[in-house]
Amino acid sequence: MVLALEKQAPTVIKADEDEVLDIELEEDFIKANERMAELNRRTFDRYGVRVIDFMGSIGSGKTSIIERLVESLKDKYKIGVIAGDTSTSIDAERVGRHGVPSIQVNTGRECHLDAPLVRKAAKKLLRHGVNLILIENVGNLICPAEFPLGAHERVVVVSVTEGEYMIKKKQDIFRVADVGVINKKDMAPYMGVDVQELVRDALNANPNIKVVVTSARTGDGIGELISALGL
Ligand code: MG
Ligand code: ZN
Repeated sequence: MVLALEKQAPTVIKADEDEVLDIELEEDFIKANERMAELNRRTFDRYGVRVIDFMGSIGSGKTSIIERLVESLKDKYKIGVIAGDTSTSIDAERVGRHGVPSIQVNTGRECHLDAPLVRKAAKKLLRHGVNLILIENVGNLICPAEFPLGAHERVVVVSVTEGEYMIKKKQDIFRVADVGVINKKDMAPYMGVDVQELVRDALNANPNIKVVVTSARTGDGIGELISALGL
């Protein structure tokens, strides 16, 4: 909590770790999730399914990117989509219009997908004989980083409309991601955002990340994203 009074240095109150949540309990959750994620990965490999987890804020363009990928790849792969959201089924409906099986997972108050939820949804998709599963995580740039799902690749999607500091402020999610997508490049001139600076920020957070600049609206950069993912 930051309390900024006029013309004075802000008062900063930092929560102690155990004030926010019982830290041992949290570690148990995280470890249990990691074990389930490993189990998921073994299941995906046994079935020969490639799985990709898309993370990013609400409005960054995760669904639009997934729709573009589905359109480009649906003749090459048998695609299924898992869409995570706290309460709506908007995303699964959007993706479903492209003629691929899509499953909505509503997490209620949870702001991320976890490995057990994904396992449940993936089992349904495996019955459709899919060989590529695209997962849209819940719109959130913080805690999905801590909850691997067993996916082969993790993609973080940000958009230039989120402002020039957003990658600097949310480095953790870039550290766990294999690919970073900077979306809505067509909006950069209107936002006064330097896209190359965002690319540098992503590489500063994670020198091994592959960065792709896209516009899901125009389709620009989608081919590069497909190459970055090796699809
Ligand atoms: Mg969405
Ligand atoms: Zn969360």
